[in-house]
Amino acid sequence: MKERELIELARKVLKNSYSPYSKVEVAAVLLTKDGKVFTGANIENASYGLSICAERAAVFQAVTNGYRDFSKIVICSNLIKPILPCGACCQVLFEFSPQIKIITMNKNGIKETFNLKEVFPRGFRLTK
Ligand SMILES: [Zn+2]
Repeated sequence: MKERELIELARKVLKNSYSPYSKVEVAAVLLTKDGKVFTGANIENASYGLSICAERAAVFQAVTNGYRDFSKIVICSNLIKPILPCGACCQVLFEFSPQIKIITMNKNGIKETFNLKEVFPRGFRLTK
């Protein structure tokens, strides 16, 4: 799937965000190295700690289906500034694909592109 198609899909998925508390809608489209696509939307809960970010929703769906190598994640939100994954999502992305490319868009489609290493340079690893 081409980048433009991933962006279009992210915009569609944004409509599935469940964010009645923050009003911040976020969608993520995750591309595996072999071309599969998984999506996620943020899902909030009245018990705030139970909420899940769009990025982790997408990664967990991919891993559940047997995919662990990711090349790209497209994130879009309804905010004015393109947002980056939170620390928890960066750590989850780092676990599987420390080299992943992050494309993030604001509500008007303005894009910024990063590598995970730029925004999360020293992720946590268990080493012996
Ligand atoms: Zn997050």
